[in-house]
Amino acid sequence: MSILISGGTVVSPSGAERADVLVVGERIAAVVKPGFGVVGGAAQVIDATDKYVLPGGVDVHTHMEMPFGGTHSSDTFETGTRAAAWGGTTTIIDFAVQPKGTSLLAALDTWHSKADGNCAIDYGFHMIVSDVNETTLKEMAACVDAGVTSFKLFMAYPGVFYATDGEILLAMQQAAKIGAVTMMHAENGIAIDQLVAQALAAGHTEPVHHGLTRPPELEAEATGRAITLAAVTGAPLYIVHLSAAQALAAVAEARDAGQQVFAETCPQYLYLSLDDLARPGFEGAKYVCSPPLRRREHQDTLWRGLRANDLSVVSTDHCPFCFADQKELGRGDFAKIPNGIPGVEHRMDLLHQGVAAGQLSLSRWVEVASTTPARMFGLYPRKGVVAPGSDADIVIYDPAATQVLSAASHHMNVDYSAYEGLQITGRVDTVMSRGTTLVAAGEYLGAPGHGSFLPRGACQYLA
Ligand SMILES: [Zn+2]
Repeated sequence: MSILISGGTVVSPSGAERADVLVVGERIAAVVKPGFGVVGGAAQVIDATDKYVLPGGVDVHTHMEMPFGGTHSSDTFETGTRAAAWGGTTTIIDFAVQPKGTSLLAALDTWHSKADGNCAIDYGFHMIVSDVNETTLKEMAACVDAGVTSFKLFMAYPGVFYATDGEILLAMQQAAKIGAVTMMHAENGIAIDQLVAQALAAGHTEPVHHGLTRPPELEAEATGRAITLAAVTGAPLYIVHLSAAQALAAVAEARDAGQQVFAETCPQYLYLSLDDLARPGFEGAKYVCSPPLRRREHQDTLWRGLRANDLSVVSTDHCPFCFADQKELGRGDFAKIPNGIPGVEHRMDLLHQGVAAGQLSLSRWVEVASTTPARMFGLYPRKGVVAPGSDADIVIYDPAATQVLSAASHHMNVDYSAYEGLQITGRVDTVMSRGTTLVAAGEYLGAPGHGSFLPRGACQYLA
């Protein structure tokens, strides 16, 4: 089976050029510039005139079916990967979670059984290490052999995921030894918990206090501390969901000094703010995530960080909880609101809106949404680029179309949209995963089980 995508503009980090793309079976066979020969004989021809031809999006931070505070994030691997496909994301890396007192390999088995046979697109796993001990340190090497080459630790959530500085040091030493990346949730959870207790004692129970008790300074402090521990151990460090200008400054300083420190941000920190958390009634609960949404002034700094490559990746931290039944658990106590915002479907579009608004170049859009995440987590050039030999994960994108984001039209299994009513310039037209068309002409053609597990190699930015 061969497909010719003809007349489109192929976008990569190095530029955008008119080219025809020939897909044979699951892979890209040729990318041919106009005037350099005609590709004939394809069984199917897709006209991509006036459209972009992009490598499928790579979202390296999602939480499908994640247990949190007595409930689960509302997207399963089936519904969440289907929604991702609708939005032009063809690879996710989700987080397997080690519950305290259990083994990493058992956790990995559990997450494999959740995802196996259910995913619409290809997927990999990071491992959340919530119990650093002699056994788990040894198991980290076995995880790398199993294709899980990145480990997430938490400086927040004491009693759940929290690791002490000593535990972080040990895990980082081991990660450095086995060539793995340490991912860090950088917020000072010990100090935050005191502020939360004080707020609740003073009767401040509304959602906005989730934001006010997690000030940007405590993200910056933890980010700096993680960077220091990484420097001492020689471990490469990847800061997840960076939200605050002060934390970005710490990352930029480390990068300028030549340290192997990387950071991602998420669309919610580029488009939403503390004002949303402060919406009247209990509406703000829809916007509770950690780190929290910041004051609007941070947004320009984050866009600048993306342009300057101090922020290398945009992922979603997709972690949906329904407003009814789930977010409701925190009515009268903001600390009980499940943390997370739905977003896996809209990352490509929200970033294209940044292109339309002049915040990002066309090439940089593709770089932060697809190419760099693939390289950061050992999937390049199989993923992240439209080039001969790569998987035919291709998005045909219409930059002139417009759409309005809404819970009434999205495909995520959640009863609200954090971007309700937002008009976006640009829209996914066709989505292909390994040569199979998943979305075309507004119809979903994918199926659970098409997606395969991706064993990953090492981070491709390390010297
Ligand atoms: Zn997360």
